[in-house]
Amino acid sequence: MSSSLCGKLPCQPATHGCQVGNVPLGGKSPVVVQAMTNTDTADATATAHQCAELARAGSELVRVTVNTPEAAAAVPEIRARLERMNCSVPLIGDFHYNGHRLLAEHPECAQALAKYRINPGNVGFGKKKDAQFAAMIELACRHEKPVRIGVNWGSLDHSVLARLMDENRRRHVPKENSEIMREAMIASALESALQAEALGLPGKHIILSCKVSNAPDLIAIYRELAARSRYALHVGLTEAGMGSRGIVASTAALAVLLHQGIGDTIRVSLTPEPGGARTEEVIVAQEILQSLNLRAFTPQVVACPGCGRTASTFFQELAKAVQTHLRDRMPEWKNRYPGVEHMRVAVMGCVVNGPGESKHANIGISLPGTGEAPSAPVYEDGEKTVTLKGESIVTEFLHIIEQYVARKFAKKVA
Ligand code: SF4
Repeated sequence: MSSSLCGKLPCQPATHGCQVGNVPLGGKSPVVVQAMTNTDTADATATAHQCAELARAGSELVRVTVNTPEAAAAVPEIRARLERMNCSVPLIGDFHYNGHRLLAEHPECAQALAKYRINPGNVGFGKKKDAQFAAMIELACRHEKPVRIGVNWGSLDHSVLARLMDENRRRHVPKENSEIMREAMIASALESALQAEALGLPGKHIILSCKVSNAPDLIAIYRELAARSRYALHVGLTEAGMGSRGIVASTAALAVLLHQGIGDTIRVSLTPEPGGARTEEVIVAQEILQSLNLRAFTPQVVACPGCGRTASTFFQELAKAVQTHLRDRMPEWKNRYPGVEHMRVAVMGCVVNGPGESKHANIGISLPGTGEAPSAPVYEDGEKTVTLKGESIVTEFLHIIEQYVARKFAKKVA
């Protein structure tokens, strides 16, 4: 199955599209990567710094929690600080419980944000719920902002769940509770979207999400959402967890959906290690999209896993040095060398697959395995160009990559 020109797979009809700040989202636009800060939003300096860091790593939208008057008051300052850092990444405000008040009482915050996220399960309770939801939608209409209606498993609207459970009890053959839970999430999102449209918010300004922490449930829910509406979809596994568990669970769920053309924007909700980088979730999201050939962000390193034929840890060290170098160089390369993000670099451990894989890459190196002569042939566009030896293979190979990129991807002058 091949991807379409827009980078999405053509299995699903296009969703509604809109602009979130300067970023097109939905419709035929490429899938957008987003991340969320974990600083106190009221601390404008720390939050602006983290937004810029996430944007530099590749987050195209950044969500900040707006939970207090102090946080709402800080949002325009965060926006101003980002502009001074020459960072135009659009900000999304995440509202729960008091969003109607914060948006009304802080119009500069409402204006500085490019999108609002509203959770129908946390808008308000009882009779206040509809009025508070309506107040937020009316403010979104007034400021011409798109809204993500974001349902979450942990804060599902109980009135919708209770109604569907009642209906199920009256069925001749009741459905499983898990099915009713999934249906309640979908119903909460779709009913809230219809309510928002009735209040005047254009359908193209509505993005839906229904996040759960279990991959099969997430896949089932989003397939239904995609089949039953044309709203743009934000996809992510919530509370994915730490380390490899979070990465694998998110990838398993997102890959299935994205491969079916479902999803207009994604977030990978990783719990960072203590002191770990918040930007890891951005890199994982990019790598999921790039592995599926939906988007290209950074040149890819093709490296064999190593085996009993790899003579030392040098092979791993070189693969890591190349990967780090490519990622570090991308902020400059992406402006100077269009198309470099599609480059493939092979770092192979021995003669078994080394020369073959290196010839298939743009540039590759085949290191000597156990028993081989201590030399490392380098291939460029399928041809052996040089053989490296000695202590400075890493430096020399990185230099060869630099020269290759400058030669092959320099902007053509008309
Ligand atoms: S290329 Fe060589 S070192 Fe790498 S996995 Fe294959 S046999 Fe092992």
